[in-house]
Amino acid sequence: MAKQESLELLKNRIAGFVDLVGKKLPEDVTVKLKELKDEEEMPMAKMIYEAMEKNQKQAWELNRPSCQDTGLIQMFVRVGTSFPYADELKVILKEAVAKATKEAPLRHNTVETFDEVNTGTNVGTDSPWIYWDILPGSDKLELDVYMAGGGCSLPGQGKTLMPGEGYEGVVKFVLDVMTSYGLNACPPLLVGIGIGTSIDSAAYMAKKALMRPVGSHNENPKAAELEDELVKAIDSIGLGPQGLTGTKSVMGVNIVNSARHPSVLSCAVNLGCWAHRRGTIVFNSDLSYDSITHKGVQL
Ligand code: SF4
Repeated sequence: MAKQESLELLKNRIAGFVDLVGKKLPEDVTVKLKELKDEEEMPMAKMIYEAMEKNQKQAWELNRPSCQDTGLIQMFVRVGTSFPYADELKVILKEAVAKATKEAPLRHNTVETFDEVNTGTNVGTDSPWIYWDILPGSDKLELDVYMAGGGCSLPGQGKTLMPGEGYEGVVKFVLDVMTSYGLNACPPLLVGIGIGTSIDSAAYMAKKALMRPVGSHNENPKAAELEDELVKAIDSIGLGPQGLTGTKSVMGVNIVNSARHPSVLSCAVNLGCWAHRRGTIVFNSDLSYDSITHKGVQL
């Protein structure tokens, strides 16, 4: 296949995947929502979970995005040093988002800051927002696509704590965010927490935490224990689905951390809503593909 044809194919497949992510939730989220529905005892909360289930079914049948807010597209890109289209990838990703915007269709959510002009394509200055990483010695492309909605992005906060505040300070900060802005994000929530040295690294890790599957745990047993304790604490607020009360508030709490400077403890929170539209796809160098989150996908 000529290079230009390959680039066109890659663009079309990525556009198709972005489209799909807006219409079908990843398997881990669907399974968790069903589990929460089955466990829920409050009649209204149960009814809301049933409405969410119906929403997913109809989005698929009617070929429409499952939420009107299809978010600002964010991507985590891990590109192999031998992936043959690495040089063109940044352009391809932008073109794919513009194509998906037209064809899915996606709501026009990219507004140029200061100019206050909607670009109408979901493409603009650093939009889609992309985090880059490399895969040494690999010829693959791994791509996480995430739709950052307004409601679920709204509660995002970060704080650099004095070291003496310790992990108790982290818990207090997280619970302050959850009890003040949590319900804006359409619960049940996936709570992403980043802990590190400076506020920028903490914020990045808090979003990276949302790319981790629901039900997974931090590798460090102490961090994993904190995840479980935070689930219990946030559930006890009783936000329930859509914040209209219920026995559970979250789908999970995911913590991602780095080693840190001993004099500071930075912590950030990013939230994912019940419609946690995240997808991961892996392309081989011949552009064959497989998705971990949307098994058997045909693009
Ligand atoms: S928080 Fe999520 S489900 Fe609620 S409106 Fe925003 S994108 Fe949609």
